[in-house]
Amino acid sequence: MVIIMLGAPGTGKGTVSAILKEKLNIAHVSSGDIFRKYSSEDSELGREINSYLKEGNLVPDELTIKMIKERLAEKDVENGVILDGFPRTEAQAIALDKMLEEEGKKVDLVIDLSSPKEEILDRIVTRRICPKCKAVYNTKLNKPKKEGICDICGSELYQREDDTVERVENRIEVYQSQTKPLEEYYEKADKLFKIEITEKTGTMAKEAADIVIEKLINRKENIKWLQSSQKEKLNKWKKLVN
Ligand code: ADP
Ligand code: ZN
Repeated sequence: MVIIMLGAPGTGKGTVSAILKEKLNIAHVSSGDIFRKYSSEDSELGREINSYLKEGNLVPDELTIKMIKERLAEKDVENGVILDGFPRTEAQAIALDKMLEEEGKKVDLVIDLSSPKEEILDRIVTRRICPKCKAVYNTKLNKPKKEGICDICGSELYQREDDTVERVENRIEVYQSQTKPLEEYYEKADKLFKIEITEKTGTMAKEAADIVIEKLINRKENIKWLQSSQKEKLNKWKKLVN
């Protein structure tokens, strides 16, 4: 099972992925997390990656593809994976298809999240992250129990360097010009599934994850995978989405 999370910054890709990871019991690979880990290192590669991240520009395709390929060769992705933030360009999408094909796999579903721009901006500047367990909080809507401290692991939360209004504007532009065309790429392949995350309808990350699970359950071709890998969980989910 290979699920891709598409969507502009701040639409909730990471939060929806984290919920799906738990419910589906599959790996969650976030290209942003991989790059942030490198960019904090004091090495030539770390500094190079940081120069893209801090401006909100994309890391070049060749480097990105190489790093994701390495990650996808690890054991924990065997049963399935949620790709959060990759692919982000057409060259990456083509490379991914090729990588998967070599292993007799394919992209199963592409979840395309969107949100009104004012909600995106608000969500991003109030976002706080745990450096250790990667949990995501929000100083307005999803506060930790103790201010500035992760509920799960007790680490001190931080704000991403690129989570400022100016950087977000650039990241949204980069998204529009380089990643948006992927909608058409996956639409043509009949894999695109759009969900709008908005306070207006109350469809937030949890609701979006439920919609995705319902979609998987309703798709006959997925039932075999769901049954074999998730047997005991299946009934629980059915209750959950009903
Ligand atoms: P968001 O979706 O909130 O902008 P991510 O955590 O997914 O943030 O990514 C953070 C940064 O990491 C991006 O702005 C970009 O610099 C880099 N990055 C992440 N994924 C990719 C990718 N697939 N290709 C190129 N750069 C990437
Ligand atoms: Zn934590």
